[in-house]
Amino acid sequence: MTVLPVTPRSDALIGGEWVPTQALLDVETPSSGQTIAQIARCQAEEVMVAVDAARRAFAGSLGEWSRWSAKRRGEWLLQFADAIDADHANLAALECADTGKPMAQAEGDIRACARYFRFYGGGADKLHGETLPFDEGFAVLTLREPYGVCAQIIPWNYPAQIFGRCVAAALATGNSVVLKPAEDACLSVLRLAELACEAGLPPGVLNVVPGLGREAGAALASHPAIDHLSFTGSPETGTQVAQAAAAHHVPVTLELGGKSPQIVFADADMPQVLDTVVRAIIQNAGQTCSAGSRLLLEASCAEAVLGELIERFSALRCAAGEANADCGPLINARQKAGLEARLEAAQADGVRVAAKGELAAGAPEGGHFVVPHLLTDIPAGHTVLREELFGPVLAVQLFRDEAEALRLANATDFGLCAGVWTRDGGRQLRLAKGIRSGQVFINNYGAGGGIELPFGGVGRSGHGREKGFEGLRSYTRLKTVAIRHG
Ligand code: NAD
Repeated sequence: MTVLPVTPRSDALIGGEWVPTQALLDVETPSSGQTIAQIARCQAEEVMVAVDAARRAFAGSLGEWSRWSAKRRGEWLLQFADAIDADHANLAALECADTGKPMAQAEGDIRACARYFRFYGGGADKLHGETLPFDEGFAVLTLREPYGVCAQIIPWNYPAQIFGRCVAAALATGNSVVLKPAEDACLSVLRLAELACEAGLPPGVLNVVPGLGREAGAALASHPAIDHLSFTGSPETGTQVAQAAAAHHVPVTLELGGKSPQIVFADADMPQVLDTVVRAIIQNAGQTCSAGSRLLLEASCAEAVLGELIERFSALRCAAGEANADCGPLINARQKAGLEARLEAAQADGVRVAAKGELAAGAPEGGHFVVPHLLTDIPAGHTVLREELFGPVLAVQLFRDEAEALRLANATDFGLCAGVWTRDGGRQLRLAKGIRSGQVFINNYGAGGGIELPFGGVGRSGHGREKGFEGLRSYTRLKTVAIRHG
């Protein structure tokens, strides 16, 4: 029986007020299927009012957030980071119950959320334009200006972290925000919004409109008065929101997942490879856009590495988030059924399950568990090598030389992250340059923790960059001012 430490908000935050909605949505914990809360189900009307409130907060009757000095905005973000830390235990418990992720991972996510506000709080007064050389008699400068009202549609896999990533960068640069969190997990986001109000954020600067994607989400993406849209989720929904935004010429950042390879050469530091490769696919039960879901192994070391991996996968255990096992459940029954169907179809196509984890004793019956799978003997071009499965499933392929490794690494429409494991310096750089992705890690792997590191995809993984200073820049628009002084 899951007991929440605080009662989650079941209303929407609009213009600094908590506003009830006509209908509510049940929230279940994926660890047992038990209903643990209710959230607001916003419709287009609430979204309209929220966008209006965000506009007035940006530059109008609710205050003038964009005119706060960068220093003052930064100070508010730093103070809010402290408030997140002070509420760490509540936020982590909400995140664990809501997403089903192991408690230690939920705790890490809340620390990361606070760190986003600290990083961007410190960055707020360090972002600046440039002066440009031009014709005699001219002085030319660029100004970095906030967009205005930023619409943010975020997913259920890392609610608190993605809240930090999007909201901190947008607020630091002087924008106001209307955020549509995911219906499958948003309790931590609602708590964070509550804390932001308590920490004195002016009304309307942050608005949160929970609800269904096809209702609140679609209304926000197609709203004519938003100035910027950031979306994280599936490629299919990404296409829809980008089309809706294009109707009003709204710039869009899309973060749409991946099928990221870990490329392991025989000269790599194998103990480190094994630890990282397993962690990178079971973290958050594989429901991570940057999951290392493909393992490309140099054939000469395949037998030894696979032997070790089979042992490690067989020892993995799944349990409720609170039990803090290796792996939690998938987010809902639909994701579980979809993944199980894909695993069955793959086996019918000849794919071999070389090893599987197990359910821990006492794992609740109603939990949406899929144990970790290690897949080998995969026919070339099979969907398990190309499609994001969003579960704890590692697909293994063998390669003979560097050229084949690069060809296999790039044989997907996605391009978010890659890991390269080798001691050969020339090979490290050749692959780093040749791989089609937004991030490449050499002898390590992990985008999630790297708040300082620009992050984003190519191809079907999306476009635009978040995190790091690049993330701050992406929430500003550049204006060129040319002054003829004679
Ligand atoms: P989704 O893309 O449909 O949902 C993501 C967000 O978009 C949610 O807030 C949702 O409410 C909203 N949304 C849905 N339809 C919308 C619409 N028409 N207009 C505006 N907003 C809309 O993802 P999902 O259905 O929850 O999951 C399906 C698959 O998406 C997963 O299996 C996984 O492959 C992928 N996914 C990727 C990420 C990621 O981090 N890249 C996160 C979640 C899901």
